[in-house]
Amino acid sequence: MPVYNPPLRDMQFVMHEVLNVSAEFQSMPQHAEVDAETINAVLEEAGKFASQVIFPLNISGDTEGCTLDKTTHEVKTPTGFKAAYKTYVEGGWAALSCDPAYGGQGLPLVVNQCLYEMMNSANQAWTMYPGLTHGAYAALHTYGTDAQKDTYLPKMTSGEWTGTMCLTEPHCGTDLGLMRTKAEPLADGTYKITGNKIFISAGEHDMADNIIHLVLARLPDAPPGIKGVSLFIVPKFHVKADGSLGERNGIYCGGLEHKMGIHGNATAQIVIDGAIGTMVGQPNKGMQAMFVMMNAARLGVGNQSLGLTEVAYQNALAYAKDRIQMRSLTGPKAKDKPADPIIVHPDVRRMLLTAKAYAEGGRALAIYSSVLLEKAHNHPDEKVRKDSDEMLSLLTPITKAFLTDNGYNAATMCQQVFGGHGYIKEWGMEQFVRDARINMIYEGTNTIQSLDLLGRKVLGNNGATLKKFGKLVGALVMEEGVNEKMAEFINPLAVLGEQITKFTTEIGFKGLQNADEVGAAAVDYLRVAGHLVFGYFWARMAQVALREIAAGNTDPFYVAKLQTARFYFAKLFPETATLMRTARAGSKVLMDTDAALA
Ligand SMILES: Cc1cc2nc3c(=O)[nH]c(=O)nc-3n(C[C@H](O)[C@H](O)[C@H](O)COP(=O)(O)OP(=O)(O)OC[C@H]3O[C@@H](n4cnc5c(N)ncnc54)[C@H](O)[C@@H]3O)c2cc1C
Repeated sequence: MPVYNPPLRDMQFVMHEVLNVSAEFQSMPQHAEVDAETINAVLEEAGKFASQVIFPLNISGDTEGCTLDKTTHEVKTPTGFKAAYKTYVEGGWAALSCDPAYGGQGLPLVVNQCLYEMMNSANQAWTMYPGLTHGAYAALHTYGTDAQKDTYLPKMTSGEWTGTMCLTEPHCGTDLGLMRTKAEPLADGTYKITGNKIFISAGEHDMADNIIHLVLARLPDAPPGIKGVSLFIVPKFHVKADGSLGERNGIYCGGLEHKMGIHGNATAQIVIDGAIGTMVGQPNKGMQAMFVMMNAARLGVGNQSLGLTEVAYQNALAYAKDRIQMRSLTGPKAKDKPADPIIVHPDVRRMLLTAKAYAEGGRALAIYSSVLLEKAHNHPDEKVRKDSDEMLSLLTPITKAFLTDNGYNAATMCQQVFGGHGYIKEWGMEQFVRDARINMIYEGTNTIQSLDLLGRKVLGNNGATLKKFGKLVGALVMEEGVNEKMAEFINPLAVLGEQITKFTTEIGFKGLQNADEVGAAAVDYLRVAGHLVFGYFWARMAQVALREIAAGNTDPFYVAKLQTARFYFAKLFPETATLMRTARAGSKVLMDTDAALA
């Protein structure tokens, strides 16, 4: 059976020793009183919920899956899911970082970020039920009318009602401009909505009293394409004026997808048959509101893979210490045993350290992003809000795609550590691999994230935001450039910082001649940018570790951190050289291949 121990020490290290989040909060009146102790105490309890309540349901949920009653259209989630959700709601976990105006606890988003990392490690499929609700909450909080907010947000804050995002249709996934679902205005200001959505996560279930679907649809006079899409709230049950539940609305589950992983989460085909909804935001501006949800979900999906990387790593590490096979190349290490534990073998260590470096680097990026999100919403200074929002928008596709590509690779490597035992079900490793795969696909495939990063977020503003990130790197290089002990981290980072400017300009120029050049380079580009970001955080983490060791701190945590930083810069970061080379191969080698693909 797999194990999971919440990585509280590492979370504390990133939050308090590297990023000093409490100091950031002091400039935000609503969080000025939140100190490290409060955050740590909440997260300790959160870790118990994740490891003790939902982790034990991970394998059973995967085996049992969800079932649909085709006559009632009701979905039964795996045994134990509903009870665990009740515990989650009663524990107040749904409300942790929500707005106190709607019953939330108003804690900083970083606390929610860490709660969700742990829940994703423990049980990604279960975590998607409350996870989707946060995105829907954010979209309504930003774009809902006061009446919509008053009706829906308190129940979504408490967790009594969950949310979904209904974008995808059978013929339209990436290209939402092809959408066909129709919304007809009614005399009372509501809309009658008709269409078919597929692949809707948590689209139907038995865990909450009501499901609030956020549905994209077209008005009769909508312009074609993405500029003619509007957003609607379509509740499973109508909500009466007094807030109680009314009749069943015409939105139901017509089928459940049979899929590779996340079996405990209901991926629903949703039939919308004249359902009544209300519009969120302006007509034909639905994507604007939906983007609030999509951006939250993109960070959330990165976090799913961070959670899986951590749990896969923990299990592979324990196994590698226990499993004995062959002798070390440099002579027996466990002389009292017939063979050595496999952790003595260099390549087993490579796989373990890869997962560890990806998990800890990903955690630093995810926590940093949650602080940016907090500042973008709550900082009193408008310029800080704007800058934070810009930086977050640059880092969002990186968080989504880099963490999920890394997460899948890490889960596969951790499975490999188990040899054949990783391939059979008993150890739980193959489930981590299966669950990790979807994260690279949904919420905009990783290719789409790469195009978003390179096309919109970098070239779209002439690299202005990337340069701002470059300034952070430059400041660290200035600070530590003469420190010999930091040279192994700072030198490669400084070199990449310089290379990426030229690399970006080059692609930008080629793209002006031929737009396929951008498409051909984008995926490689995102990984290069991902390493720039990871390199920056790994250098900062090494900086803190070195400082503590120099000050006489003997906590082995710092030695481990330093060794992992060394591994990262020596074995993973150099991938950037190959990536820049393959990106420079350009589009011709792809686009002149009609004969090859005939
Ligand atoms: C388990 C699961 C859960 C999901 N949950 C939800 C949900 O809750 N709500 C929801 O609305 N949707 C959901 N989805 C849908 C998901 O977001 C889409 O599957 C995804 O966005 C891709 O769309 P598609 O499957 O139609 O693929 P397509 O759009 O058909 O893409 C096929 C391939 O073409 C590539 N491609 C497409 N356009 C381009 C381009 N311009 N440049 C380069 N490559 C391109 C894609 O990257 C992909 O590799 C879910 C899907 C699954 C499988």
